[in-house]
Amino acid sequence: MAGLLGGLPDAVLSVAYLVAATLFILGLREMTHPRTAMRGNLISAAGMLLAVGITVLWFEILSPLVLFAALLVGAAIGTWLATSVETTQMPQLVGLFNGFGGGASALVAGAELIDLFGAGGAAKVAAYDVTGAAAVAGVVGAVTFTGSLVAAGKLHGYVEAPIRYPGEQTVKAGVLLVCVAVAAVLVGRPAGVAGALTADWVPAYWGLLVAASVLGVLLVVPIGGADMPVVIALLNSLSGLAAATTGFVLDNSVLIIAGTLVGASGMILTTIMCRAMNRSLRNVLVGGLGDTRAGDVADIYEGNIMSTSPEEVAMLLETARRVVIVPGYGMAVGQAQHAVAELAAMLGEAGVEVAFGIHPVAGRMPGHMNVLLAEADVPYEQMEELEAVNPTFADTDVVIVTGANDVVNPTALSDEPSPIQGMPILRVWEADVVVINKRSLSHGYAGIPNPLFTYDNTYMLFGDARESMQALANEYKATR
Ligand code: NDP
Repeated sequence: MAGLLGGLPDAVLSVAYLVAATLFILGLREMTHPRTAMRGNLISAAGMLLAVGITVLWFEILSPLVLFAALLVGAAIGTWLATSVETTQMPQLVGLFNGFGGGASALVAGAELIDLFGAGGAAKVAAYDVTGAAAVAGVVGAVTFTGSLVAAGKLHGYVEAPIRYPGEQTVKAGVLLVCVAVAAVLVGRPAGVAGALTADWVPAYWGLLVAASVLGVLLVVPIGGADMPVVIALLNSLSGLAAATTGFVLDNSVLIIAGTLVGASGMILTTIMCRAMNRSLRNVLVGGLGDTRAGDVADIYEGNIMSTSPEEVAMLLETARRVVIVPGYGMAVGQAQHAVAELAAMLGEAGVEVAFGIHPVAGRMPGHMNVLLAEADVPYEQMEELEAVNPTFADTDVVIVTGANDVVNPTALSDEPSPIQGMPILRVWEADVVVINKRSLSHGYAGIPNPLFTYDNTYMLFGDARESMQALANEYKATR
């Protein structure tokens, strides 16, 4: 090591990595609560800046000037993305970030293999653990990359229905076998053993990436709408696993720590999402219920719908003692959180007990509703999770469902096969009156009709979430 940091003892690098790892952990801790999440993000970003900066300068990968220029370009792209991407497109963006993380890990592991075995075929030191880690990083990274691209496309609405085909499991198993076979060759022939891996074998790594990329697509295209939260959490976890294994290839402790943190937290999230959907991971990845999406729903609702207006709902609220607001994806689309928060605050001032019923998969990314409501300064104490709020509906006078559909769909409780069968839902119909605000009778992400719209105590408040909630808030204000 020479250059800018030349002459510094090796311990400096270790201490810098330790500080970076500590910042990651502190940042993650802060992210466990919406109130401190932004600070957590900044702390983790500072850790990553330190880790990347010291690595690049220490190993003289780039000159300080080029590093600075790269940081400027990266910061400009990041700022542009953060300010120009619509809040409703954030889930897709997060999906893409997972994919880029996985893709980068696969490419870096491959570059290291070239470094070890390339350039004339004279292998430098490489052992089973290096080739093994590279093979895992390649497979997991490539699966994450293409799987995330498909997931982002599904979230964006490019691919609406799950794609199923005859012999699906056999095709997936076949591609998986190809990956395992190529990986076994790479792992089994490291340098320094008989029949060692040579530069000729390095292209096999790129073949491995191609096979794994195909596997990523095959794994995600058949996943049904309502199972997507599990897949997104899993891809997030895999992106961490790919980074951690690349850390082993490079022998870089801070990458191992960062990747492990992402992998472990993503796996916890996957477990939470599986529980929220009442699915096992195997059931999501291998099972699938096919395309059970709704066709023409007009006959289901025909003559059974009661609609209402903001004036009527405001009158209902006048005499209510407990009101629960259930937000869903439509609240994010309509950006209705501020109008909803204004209504909730007025109800609270009038002595009404107000709660928000938050379903774990409401919206399009984990914690979506909490983030939006926190942005509108809704007190955290008012946000009640599914298990806490469900028993209270029987004592609730009015439930206002705004932009939610699948998370209040009683079909989940029926024996009929559906993409949401068995998913715990918010039992809003147990309240005296349910007001459902959405623009039409169209289905939610899972693509199935919702019989709740036809219930005797359900009133449809048709309209955009922000306009309807603002009109309701204004009407309620006028009645006081
Ligand atoms: P849904 O997708 O079930 O329904 C949202 C409803 O919002 C639609 O029926 C739509 O009806 C309505 N809507 C859309 N725009 C507006 C608007 N501007 N104003 C008013 N209403 C609007 O949402 P839920 O939150 O109930 O359920 C989430 C679904 O997404 C679940 O199936 C979940 O599995 C899935 N999912 C969740 C992820 C997560 O991590 N949370 C990730 C991926 C998928 P209309 O067009 O009639 O207005």
